[in-house]
Amino acid sequence: MKIAIVGAGIAGLSCAEMLQAGGHHVVLFDKARGAGGRMATRRVVTVAGYVAFDHGAQYFTARDPEFASVVQGWGSAGIAAPWPGAGSDAWVGTPGMSAVAKVIARPMTIHWNCLVVKIRHMDGSWFLDAVAEIPFDAVIVATPADQAAPLLVTHDPAMAAMAQACPSAPCWTAMVAFAVRLAVVDDIIRNTGIIGWAARNSAKPGRPGIESWVIQATAKWSRDHLEDTEATIVDALLAALALETATPLPSPIIRIGHRWRYARVTATHQGCLWNATTKIGAVGDWLIAPRVESAWLSGRMLAKVILAG
Ligand code: FAD
Repeated sequence: MKIAIVGAGIAGLSCAEMLQAGGHHVVLFDKARGAGGRMATRRVVTVAGYVAFDHGAQYFTARDPEFASVVQGWGSAGIAAPWPGAGSDAWVGTPGMSAVAKVIARPMTIHWNCLVVKIRHMDGSWFLDAVAEIPFDAVIVATPADQAAPLLVTHDPAMAAMAQACPSAPCWTAMVAFAVRLAVVDDIIRNTGIIGWAARNSAKPGRPGIESWVIQATAKWSRDHLEDTEATIVDALLAALALETATPLPSPIIRIGHRWRYARVTATHQGCLWNATTKIGAVGDWLIAPRVESAWLSGRMLAKVILAG
């Protein structure tokens, strides 16, 4: 089949990888400039070189045997490494979280900067508004649930309803770097005041360079301050980090805020969705659990259903 996948995050990519290996012709569409979705890395150039921040997923687990064996392969290829600092089963992409997605995406046909707003079904073929003249035999929506629902609703209201039942919590994130090491003892701070998670990004494996931190606010605080300005948010998150040091924080040489509107989803446990009659489906973390591993598994699960079909 010729299959369109909307979303080149880890779920869309794992699905595409297996379908392509199974002989299907897959084309992906993503509104972003590069692969990985919420498994994201932001590169910032400074006079002293570049700093790469993992501003979305911080690490991932590999508990499922199939995923664990794939992750071992990523480790051997140098695109992932264990991060014992976060737990005995924690891994990170190297040199940034998006590295894995970039490598999976390399041999794929992907339309970047391509927002899909509408999907049409006509005479048994699927059409995306982004490339309106190209027919596909099947379409897979691999976006966060909030963005999947409007794409699915006309074609499969039951699927759309499931997506609507999985709202995501937002997460305000600050990326900050300093010329000197901060007097913060631990590399990770969890659930302290408005901080849901903060990590010394430069302490992760494969990230040499200047002292950099990613500070993520709790879901509640992020929701309460969703429309605040980036500057105000970064100030508040820096002030929260300052509470963890005995000495005043130096002035950051990089300070950037990022608002994730759809960060952590309330998941259903369907695994993946597929309408074998019309050939529309959905994958993503929202179909298992709000984690990288679950998103990867969801993509694989649908690919197996299609290959078996
Ligand atoms: P996504 O990664 O969101 O990919 C969806 C893709 O679809 C995106 O690339 C997007 O650009 C694209 N897209 C959306 N709508 C459209 C459209 N209409 N047209 C075209 N393209 C579209 N997980 C962990 O395991 N460990 C963690 O520590 C962790 N921390 C997290 C912290 C934060 C702040 C966030 C945001 C997430 C975190 N997660 C963590 C969750 C993890 O990142 C996700 O579960 C996983 O990356 C989801 O993958 P996905 O492919 O389902 O979705």
